[in-house]
Amino acid sequence: MDPRIAYFSMEYGLSEEMHAYAGGLGILAGDYLKGAADLGLPLVGIGILWRHGYTTQLIGDSGWPTDKYPDFRYDFLEDTGVRISVTVRDHPVAIRIWKTTHFGNAPLFMLDTNLPENAQPDRDITAHLYGGGRDERIAQEIVLGIGGARALTALGMRPEIYHFNEGHAVLAATELIQRRMEDGRSFQDAWNEVRNMVVFTTHTPVAAGNEWHPLDAMFAMGANNGLTWEQMSALGDDPFNMTVAGLRLSRIANAVSELHGHTAREMWAHVHGAAPIIHVTNGVHPGTWQNPAIAAANTDQEIWNAHKEAKRALLNEIYARTGTWMDPNTLLIGYARRAAAYKRSALIFRDPGRIDPLLREGGLNLVFAGKAHPRDEGGKGIISHLVHKSREYPGHVVFLQNYDMRVGRLLTQGCDVWLNNPRIPLEASGTSGMKAAMNGTLHLSTPDGWWPEAVQQGVNGWAFGGGEHGDVDEYDANQLYDVLTHEVVPTYYGNRDRWISMMRASIASTSEAFSVHRMIREYEALIYNQLARV
Ligand SMILES: *Cc1c(COP(=O)(O)O)cnc(C)c1O
Repeated sequence: MDPRIAYFSMEYGLSEEMHAYAGGLGILAGDYLKGAADLGLPLVGIGILWRHGYTTQLIGDSGWPTDKYPDFRYDFLEDTGVRISVTVRDHPVAIRIWKTTHFGNAPLFMLDTNLPENAQPDRDITAHLYGGGRDERIAQEIVLGIGGARALTALGMRPEIYHFNEGHAVLAATELIQRRMEDGRSFQDAWNEVRNMVVFTTHTPVAAGNEWHPLDAMFAMGANNGLTWEQMSALGDDPFNMTVAGLRLSRIANAVSELHGHTAREMWAHVHGAAPIIHVTNGVHPGTWQNPAIAAANTDQEIWNAHKEAKRALLNEIYARTGTWMDPNTLLIGYARRAAAYKRSALIFRDPGRIDPLLREGGLNLVFAGKAHPRDEGGKGIISHLVHKSREYPGHVVFLQNYDMRVGRLLTQGCDVWLNNPRIPLEASGTSGMKAAMNGTLHLSTPDGWWPEAVQQGVNGWAFGGGEHGDVDEYDANQLYDVLTHEVVPTYYGNRDRWISMMRASIASTSEAFSVHRMIREYEALIYNQLARV
């Protein structure tokens, strides 16, 4: 059967044992495939089999992160036997196509260039997720986009809709345009036809995070796929901006929260010929992220017991990994993010005069996790700063190395509070907060990403800060201390009934509303069903 939709993503977070993701973008894609399978949506995923994954990041004695790249192999992948090739620089690169439905997901086809018939550096195109420099990235985008479109054809599939999760896959559209030009259409007609089949999701409200490449680099790598300079710059400008191309190559584009929709429309208002940008707020897969005992709990006692169990599992893991035993009766706040300056991982330490007493007098414990990009020295500085904080407050602050889905699950289920403090409006969505909230781990966040859509102040969690002018770090930090000392800490220790009723409200207001199933129904109603059938 033809899938109706082909979903392209550079990364997929499908399970704890499969290392094909770096962070939130991949988690979303993995949850999408699982949700699509649950709902019977005829969707296939296209991705890459990353031999070393992203990075296995460990903390040395100095507190500085170091990266390891084990070879990952998976017995459960099925070789489809189908081979395709793409042109990189000026020669063919062979691609093997693997398939998995192993985690109850919709079929995922994973492209792999690690084949004996390829020489280096081509074999390593699919070695490191987000590794390498500009040319490697372009080669990866050729494999994902052009290779992905060819893989579907070679597998005998003719999807009606191509959905690009971020700009990495936009080169797929050059392939679809080429085929129509080979059938005699003009470039403009081919482009118009292709646009009617393409959906584009943008994720990055930080201008610098939107990828671009000089056109001559793209031509040198063969990424133009036979299109001329004028044609390529009509699609993505010169330099070639992957997001701009995504907007011009799609009929409907979407941001990933309501607030991000406003930000993205402003950010890309100058792009002529862009698709309208609507929003579909992200969701997570409850079967993956929600503690079954929490989902089944009815009474206050059952909610609290399920939470206590999850917290104990987390504290055991913290002890096993760090040798620190944290008191189960102490309020535990969790924070796990990729290291990026705007996320302000260390905001809570900004004023030692206010955080010191809370930590040292036993009112509060903190658990951190996160990874930095292997080439991002600034990001590694952020991680190392957190590690040093854990040494400054032994017993009260810990850092868990090598943040991954397993750590993410333990943390979002086992902490009492989930902290998120990005400088607004720079967080597009932030799905870890949804995981926490549907486990009754109360969300404490600046009003960024998905949170303004969900927060009922003091009822299902708390919003704080959100300064946009002046010393926003100072402002947001003070608001954080205020809500901690006046609301969070007194409620936790002094009013357990209210705390549990907040947990209950958190679970009730998010389990369905921020599930991937709600998200998929919106993609169907607001986007897929709007696209003309071709
Ligand atoms: C959920 C998750 C993310 C995404 O969470 P954010 O809120 O966007 O930071 C990233 N990494 C892992 C391992 C996760 O489980």
